[in-house]
Amino acid sequence: MHPQLATDLDHLPDLLEAVRKRTVGFLDGLAERPVVDLGAALPVGGPLAGAGVGLERTLEEFAAEWEPALSASAGPRYLGFVTGGATPAALAGDWLTSAYDQNPNSSAEPAGQQLERQTLGWLRELFGLGPQHSGAFVSGATMSNTTGLAIAREWLGEQLGVSPADQGVGVLGRVRVLSGSPHSSVGKALSMLGLGRDALIPVDRLAGREAVDPAALERALAAADGPCIVVANAGTVNSVDFDDLRALAALKERYSFWLHVDGAFGAFAALSPEHAHLVDGMDLADSLCIDLHKWLNVPYDSAVQFTRRPDLQARVFQNAAAYLGPLGDVPDFVHLTPENSRRLRALPAWFTLRAYGRDGHREIVERCVAGARTLGAAVEAEPRLRLAAPVRLNVVCFTLTEAPTAQRLAALAAAAAGEVFTTPTLYQGAPAVRAAFSNWRTGEEDAERIARALIAAAAGLAD
Ligand SMILES: *Cc1c(COP(=O)(O)O)cnc(C)c1O
Repeated sequence: MHPQLATDLDHLPDLLEAVRKRTVGFLDGLAERPVVDLGAALPVGGPLAGAGVGLERTLEEFAAEWEPALSASAGPRYLGFVTGGATPAALAGDWLTSAYDQNPNSSAEPAGQQLERQTLGWLRELFGLGPQHSGAFVSGATMSNTTGLAIAREWLGEQLGVSPADQGVGVLGRVRVLSGSPHSSVGKALSMLGLGRDALIPVDRLAGREAVDPAALERALAAADGPCIVVANAGTVNSVDFDDLRALAALKERYSFWLHVDGAFGAFAALSPEHAHLVDGMDLADSLCIDLHKWLNVPYDSAVQFTRRPDLQARVFQNAAAYLGPLGDVPDFVHLTPENSRRLRALPAWFTLRAYGRDGHREIVERCVAGARTLGAAVEAEPRLRLAAPVRLNVVCFTLTEAPTAQRLAALAAAAAGEVFTTPTLYQGAPAVRAAFSNWRTGEEDAERIARALIAAAAGLAD
């Protein structure tokens, strides 16, 4: 063994203790470090050295050079994109995932698969899905949407008596994917799947809303001369608007389509009795995307996808090899997702669900919604700011009352970035800022501090 490896192996307990101390130090300072330090100096580094420095020095070097440049994205006032943190139990599960270093892709050794199946069962219950949904872990909502749409592609083939998985996408002819406000990852997925971004056909939305107009969708389905894919949105990123999933599913009585639901973070409305109606009908999806590294607050990277047609899924993703064994009635995960080998991704989710249960995760969701309402009310009360969209769940989409240009909004966000990180957007064609509450640490005091920082930044803007 290389001497540096041998030394690190000899000192492993002490080294891991040093890592633990560093972690605790970082997490202790999380709430007070600049949320994003836009001026932080980034190390440039040199070429790869032949001789390494060992773990102890590597840790010290990283802590000195890189750690100061890291954002507090795991902390309570990082509201950019839709960003979760890591609950204590999720963090523990994630550490152990690396220590155990399991590959749960096959049942050659069954414990990892069994743990993933149990976790998927818990998630099914959490989101009110029936037993006809089978699930699998993937790296994020983009891969979950991709997997769902890959199953949809095979379903289109089934309707036409062909198999794109075997024969290629050319056998499908023109494919139509209908959606009101699809997430950008849907276009990316269609590109990867060979269906093409142009397959996406925008459908009119309800007036002043991001939710699709079911009547317009019906017209689009009637105009299409064959089976389609419908991407329904359960929680849009700007205004957290929800398609009427039950109404959309009801159209299946008259039209032939695959219903994919993107509930990346909106699916968590199911946890709050006050908001569960927003995802009424989610169970009727043929495929469903839910992110876990957002509102479940497990570390990156983790999401699930559910579907009613694991048979079609296995047709797409099967990885037939003698050493992997036959597909069987319940295919191993290696036959169900884009990945082959991967980490035991379920473990952080298993830990946090076991540690805090349905009630603990409901409390996180409700506290985030309360934070969004606090900020929303503060925006409404501040003459310089105005809400661009109503606060439906956990996102506050707002803009400036006077001269709401992209430049002025960027200046506003930059001025507040040490205290709160937000991301810019275009909402109904006009520049706006989004603040998304999805971190388990965020409390009412944070929400008030966030509001003060944004209001002060607005007051400090040059006209
Ligand atoms: C975040 C998000 C995605 C993409 O998720 P990743 O985890 O970043 O791949 C897709 N759809 C919606 C609605 C999202 O909010």
